[in-house]
Amino acid sequence: LKSMLNDPALLAEKAYVGGQWVDGDNGTFEVTNPARGDVIAHVADLSRAQVAHAIATAEAAQKDWAKWTGKERAAVLRRFFDLMMEAQHDLGVILTAEQGKPLAEAKGEIAYGASFIEFFGEEAKRIYGETIPGHQRDKRITVIRQPIGVAASITPWNFPNAMITRKAAPALAAGCAFIGRPATETPLSATAMGVLAERAGIPAGVFNIVPSSSASDVGKEFCENPGVRKLTFTGSTEVGRILLRQAADSVMKCSMELGGNAPFIVFDDADLDAAVEGAILCKFRNNGQTCVCANRIYVQAGVYDAFAAKLKAAVEKLKMGDGFEEGTTLGPLINADAIEKVQEHVADATAKGATVVMGGGTPEQGPGHFLPPTILADVTQEMLIATDETFGPLAPLFRFEDEDDVIAMANDTIFGLASYFYARDLSRVTKVAEALEYGIVGVNTGIISTEVAPFGGVKQSGLGREGSHHGIDEFLEMKYICASV
Ligand code: ADP
Repeated sequence: LKSMLNDPALLAEKAYVGGQWVDGDNGTFEVTNPARGDVIAHVADLSRAQVAHAIATAEAAQKDWAKWTGKERAAVLRRFFDLMMEAQHDLGVILTAEQGKPLAEAKGEIAYGASFIEFFGEEAKRIYGETIPGHQRDKRITVIRQPIGVAASITPWNFPNAMITRKAAPALAAGCAFIGRPATETPLSATAMGVLAERAGIPAGVFNIVPSSSASDVGKEFCENPGVRKLTFTGSTEVGRILLRQAADSVMKCSMELGGNAPFIVFDDADLDAAVEGAILCKFRNNGQTCVCANRIYVQAGVYDAFAAKLKAAVEKLKMGDGFEEGTTLGPLINADAIEKVQEHVADATAKGATVVMGGGTPEQGPGHFLPPTILADVTQEMLIATDETFGPLAPLFRFEDEDDVIAMANDTIFGLASYFYARDLSRVTKVAEALEYGIVGVNTGIISTEVAPFGGVKQSGLGREGSHHGIDEFLEMKYICASV
């Protein structure tokens, strides 16, 4: 891996704490390449005591960082952004090596991840307060917004770079210190960011990366240590619930980006080719391993067969392979469990009457976790797929007749992150967009992620928003000052 990098120093196996590169008291843990199965690095495995030490360091560093002007923080974050973009290729290579996604997609993620640093760096200058006309003649009311303190982050492996910057950028811009615990599968994308943070001149202790093989230990320390004032998590609803329970004792402010079960609806007045293109991007990006991937594809009866045929033709054009091979559009899944989950959904659906249009859940032989894409037809609400997030390359096609029915089916889930639909009738577009109980609605588009918009879910998909000017609120506290004059 080192030999593939223009700047080999970006491959960092130690933890970055208080401006120092440190070894783990628990030794190291292995990082493997999901396309080949080989070990590519041994990363510092921090103990719970080391994480507690990191929190103390961050707490001390944050006090000064909070005093910097917005413009000063913006300048450092701008350098951080520039360094990321200069290192885009290398960061992409590291990401593909540990996560598996095609290199072009990995480089796309780096640009997306960097965009949060750029955007929130600019926002650092605009953390405005408010004056409110007093309630009595002698009263003056001012509202100021202050950084909450140390922000601790737990992130997943599917976007090993962008999930970190989406949290770290608003935290740093607000004047918080940041401690990130990357997913065990993908710590190298995180430690590489430590290298760049250091070069950008982010003060020691303000940006920390604490890899550890014990997620639950770190989670407990983050929730129980009074030095942490904010917990920001992206991952499954199941783990989100555990963290919220743990955080309850200290009444910690929490942001949660949890699971989704995105409906993707194709109405009979849709532009079918555009809908197929959107479905491919939305379903198969990152090989179906994103929380905003289409999980249930509802197609109106009149266009069902035509859509299924066009989708099959488009999926046949996807090229599965090692993310480093030219032209690969589908990488491996992250691990063997991920393959099993897809197989479970396929088996459940076919047992209950679904038909296999292509694929079917047989993995490729070999060391990598490769599973060819599957399309299922005649899928119904009774199947596991209807309620459970698949997180893999499985496109299930549900048939519907009526607009109200499909809205009811789309909303019949505990999740409420992203949703999508394709239609052209203006009143239908307006009505459906308003009726979907989701934090995000893509209308005639399958891609909705951008740093300028508020990303987040309703119901059990989460709490809070990331991105846009709203994203910084998660790291600020409002203080109201009442002065008698
Ligand atoms: P995913 O399916 O994306 O891996 P998880 O919710 O299982 O979703 O994992 C998201 C992140 O949360 C990962 O970094 C994982 O290691 C971490 N994690 C898992 N269990 C816990 C826990 N009990 N406490 C804190 N973090 C956890």
